[in-house]
Amino acid sequence: MSIDTIGDWERTNDCGSLRKEDIGRGAVLMGWVHRRRDLGRLIFIDLRDRFGLTQIVFDEEADPESHNKAAILRNEWVIAIKGEVAARLAGQENPELPTGDIEVKAKELKVLNESAIPPFQVDGKIDASENLRLKYRYLELRRPALVHNLVMRHEIALHIRNFLSGEGFMEVETPALTKSTPEGARDYLVPSRVNKGLFYALPQSPQLFKQLLMMAGFNRYFQIVKCFRDEDLRADRQPEFTQVDLEMSFTNERGVMGVGEAMMADLFSAVLGVQIPRPFPVLEYSDAIDSYGSDKPDIRFNMELVDLTNLFASSSFKLFSSTIEKGGLVKAIRIEDGASFSRKELDSLDSSVTNSGAKGMVWAKLRFEGWQSSVAKYLTPETTHAVEERLGGKEGDLILFVADKAQQANQALGNLRIEMAKRLGLIKKGGYSFVWVTRFPLLEYSDEEGRFVAVHHPFTAPLEEDIFLLDERPEEVRARSYDLVLNGAEIGGGSVRVHTLELQNRIFRVLGLSEEEVQEKFGFFIEALGYGAPPHAGIALGFDRLVAIMVGADSIRDVIAFPKTQRATCAVTNAPSKVYKEQLTELGLSLIDPGIDTDFS
Ligand code: ASP
Repeated sequence: MSIDTIGDWERTNDCGSLRKEDIGRGAVLMGWVHRRRDLGRLIFIDLRDRFGLTQIVFDEEADPESHNKAAILRNEWVIAIKGEVAARLAGQENPELPTGDIEVKAKELKVLNESAIPPFQVDGKIDASENLRLKYRYLELRRPALVHNLVMRHEIALHIRNFLSGEGFMEVETPALTKSTPEGARDYLVPSRVNKGLFYALPQSPQLFKQLLMMAGFNRYFQIVKCFRDEDLRADRQPEFTQVDLEMSFTNERGVMGVGEAMMADLFSAVLGVQIPRPFPVLEYSDAIDSYGSDKPDIRFNMELVDLTNLFASSSFKLFSSTIEKGGLVKAIRIEDGASFSRKELDSLDSSVTNSGAKGMVWAKLRFEGWQSSVAKYLTPETTHAVEERLGGKEGDLILFVADKAQQANQALGNLRIEMAKRLGLIKKGGYSFVWVTRFPLLEYSDEEGRFVAVHHPFTAPLEEDIFLLDERPEEVRARSYDLVLNGAEIGGGSVRVHTLELQNRIFRVLGLSEEEVQEKFGFFIEALGYGAPPHAGIALGFDRLVAIMVGADSIRDVIAFPKTQRATCAVTNAPSKVYKEQLTELGLSLIDPGIDTDFS
């Protein structure tokens, strides 16, 4: 088959745009053969581009030459056709397709390129392994579902840019070759050739630069920016990911949260046609943990955790009373109409409990004749009555108890809450529930490092009324921080920043950093704080996760054009890869493990 050139053909339409109103018009379409059906005299081609599918008909009687050419077309060949838009025969319309009322009767066909047989069917179900699909990502990106995700990603980004720009934010690019800023993960390092032995780091976030922009007086900054974190691969994380990063001067928590909410409400209304009620609910961190057992609570359903510790303090049920004696808690959730869960189903909940480090769970089914539970015989009628009253229990309900140290009990019940909601179908698709979680602890003790570390980052301001605790009881200091949670996923976080030299130095001291370490790591930043830093605050949203939730994708990989694999490699290019010895020499580097550098260096 000869390959034609486009010559003077001009495409009049993309493959998604022809409608009934175009019937009778001439059209030139170009695209990929999505599917071919050969009925002998008639050959049907579904012609595809990123805008849609159009049915093309080749009729042997009307145009034998094109028909002959069409007979040898294969999937994924690139063709151009000239023809006339016609109504589909009555009963042959396809209501699923926007172009489903029409077809194009081909009068001329050019083959613009052939295609090798693809390793998986572009039009088929997702049957190939993920690795194969990632290797041939450009073929997978021809699939309408992925095209849709990326079109949405583009629209969401565009909308955010326009919104923020309208609110007086200005997009400023910050360096990608920089000094590491501590966000708690490992840096990707880039060796310097000009300054041998020295390294840049790829930014984990533009945190310090955006603060410097506030000190420069830019007032409102934003950036849709790539960030890099060399973390051990957990599910649904990417080593490079995108943040919507913003920072504002002369404002506080309310200012940033207000902009964040307005941006989300505007975005969801414009892109999804969904009205999000404002203001978003706000939960303090400690309340989120107490009531939902999580710092990213899914509030699309209730089933809140209830503390029953005082009811069981002197109970003859030893598991409960001895846990309480050791300073632990007894907490429970009530699952409405949950008594129908079988023993087997309840046993299968164990992993939700043990994954959080808790030792176990006790259940009780509320029956007409009383509690059906292994603990029933240890409890007085007053106690069971009090438990029911506190939880609002009624016949047919199920109560799950966990007795453990506070952290384990909360986490276990938090997990059970989500698991039960999933099993009961309480989480409706398509609903969006935003909540702010504020006032996280500023610091937490790291056993590994033997010192306090910042929960967010060291530039987060402590709550004014807690500053006096900084030296004596640092773990009790609350931060002026706020996380944005959507449907139980953290989609963003930020804080009011420390803006005085004195307080910033004090926090570095509490973090156990010596004068020298501070100078070495943050000298430039400390110095800048000394030249009139305005009060400022900001937030960063995880753009990939936000898009994934908005398009209903299970994984952020489905909204990234070329994602990394679970092993942090690029399946298309095979990065990371070996380099030539000369490249290493030029950088003043050599590899410790010669096993790694066989072919090249
Ligand atoms: N830089 C922070 C982060 O990436 C967000 C912020 O505090 O603005 O998590």
